[in-house]
Amino acid sequence: MSGPTGIALLGATGSIGETAQRVVSRHPDRFRFAAMTAHGNRPALEIAAARWKPSLVGLVNGGGAPLPAGWCHGRECLVQAATHPDAAIVLNAVVGAAGLEATLAAVSAGKRVALANKESLVVGGALMERAARASGGGQVVPVDSEHSALLQCLAGRVGGDGPGLLPVAGVRRFIITASGGPFRAWESERIRGARLEDALNHPTWSMGRKITVDSASLANKALEVIEAHVLFGVPYDRIEVVVHPQSIVHSMVEFEDGSVIAQLGVPSMELPVLYALGYPDRLEDHGVPRFDPVASSPLTFEPVRHDAFPTLGLGVAAGRRGGAAPAVFNAANEAAVSRFLDGSLSFGGIPGAIESALTRLGDRSGDDLPALLAADAAARILVQEFR
Ligand code: NAD
Ligand code: MG
Repeated sequence: MSGPTGIALLGATGSIGETAQRVVSRHPDRFRFAAMTAHGNRPALEIAAARWKPSLVGLVNGGGAPLPAGWCHGRECLVQAATHPDAAIVLNAVVGAAGLEATLAAVSAGKRVALANKESLVVGGALMERAARASGGGQVVPVDSEHSALLQCLAGRVGGDGPGLLPVAGVRRFIITASGGPFRAWESERIRGARLEDALNHPTWSMGRKITVDSASLANKALEVIEAHVLFGVPYDRIEVVVHPQSIVHSMVEFEDGSVIAQLGVPSMELPVLYALGYPDRLEDHGVPRFDPVASSPLTFEPVRHDAFPTLGLGVAAGRRGGAAPAVFNAANEAAVSRFLDGSLSFGGIPGAIESALTRLGDRSGDDLPALLAADAAARILVQEFR
């Protein structure tokens, strides 16, 4: 194929969506946007559409006034964009399980999915793996910085027929780093009563609201442990989390001979986005501030305080349990975060709501998409009613 590779950008108006537009603007010979979608934020989508002139523009909700010719409206836009013939790469930057069907459709259609929407893999990991194998060419490449780091540490070792979307051999341990979020050094009692503005005040990353709250509760790290397991097929016993407040070391891989390889850089999502688009190549780029080891010093590491951050353990246990449990964990967390954002649940209520949903629904089967969607919906209702 000649000319720039077409990308379908789902969630074009979000934090990762904007980052992707910045990255692609530096590589016009290599990439262009063939399709773009957003949820509600029509003015921002109009600006992006005028700039990139994609073949398909999709507004998932918030239509109101008549839409310009050629725009699509409604949830179906996500799958339409994800399977668009002009797009070889689908960059899924939607937040939440709402991105699941689009990821699945893109993988089934043989696309490369540059995946920021980690919830897709948490909810539908097994389905995604089956779809990738059946499609003969469908592929998931992570955008999440920790998983991009793991992939970069694993360079040359991905492949073979083990479990996972990107099967690896010879790994003794993954060490996934966590900034610890704004409450890293807070007493447990104070964390339980934390206010919204405290939770949104992330020390090292600027991101959408949902993932920012997830980073404060460490739900994000639970999603990432499950994501790592699904992507690389590494058993849960070999995946550890360590707190690293500077967010410079993005993750590490320990190999069977004891050697540990880490990937470092200033905290910016531009590099993981670029790496996922160009993988396995490295594309020349100067958009991200250069790493300065002296200015970044010191780099420190601490254990996770599980008593203060129970959501991490709940999520990893759901991952180990399998079936629909990860989908229940994810949906309960999404619903609890949305209640925390609207002020009807305390920060300390988030793990409580998740635990109660897992107790009631954690044994459900997750064999197919309808079963997973049913578990997701049931968990949301339980959390809505949680007191
Ligand atoms: P965001 O809230 O800033 O943006 C979300 C985007 O998705 C917006 O364009 C929005 O219009 C769209 N969207 C929201 N709800 C939707 C729905 N129901 N259906 C379709 N589209 C919808 O979020 P973000 O911070 O960019 O995060 C996006 C994804 O990337 C999340 O899964 C997050 O965990 C992951 N991620 C983000 C970062 C980061 O730095 N922001 C880092 C790693 C991973
Ligand atoms: Mg991450």
